[in-house]
Amino acid sequence: MGCGCGLLGILGIALVFLSLSIAYTRGWRNPAWDVRAYGTCQIHLRSLKYALESYRRDFGKPPARLEDLSRYVLDPATLHCPFEARGGKPYVYHPGAVGTQPLITCDNHGQGELALQGDGKVHLPAVR
Ligand SMILES: [Zn+2]
Repeated sequence: MGCGCGLLGILGIALVFLSLSIAYTRGWRNPAWDVRAYGTCQIHLRSLKYALESYRRDFGKPPARLEDLSRYVLDPATLHCPFEARGGKPYVYHPGAVGTQPLITCDNHGQGELALQGDGKVHLPAVR
């Protein structure tokens, strides 16, 4: 009999493959870690900033509901987090927000809450 190193090596390689496949599938097993949806959500929030500005210019006040912005966005999907269709929560809209207060927030992502602030900046959770 050998020292068992061959068997250990095979186990080690199997372990590496296992952890790689876990990391790869984490995105769809736990939607909170889907980085593509996270990026799309940021793009939505930034687009909504311009939609809100256009609405304010036309009506002199912020819309009562996010749905009122539908004619100010090219794609109605912009009004929703990509996760909403997969069981995620809708955007939360706070019409009176000013300065750094959250204006539109999304809490569907494992990294933390994304927020479009009253001053138009997008607040991202700190990278861990
Ligand atoms: Zn989102």
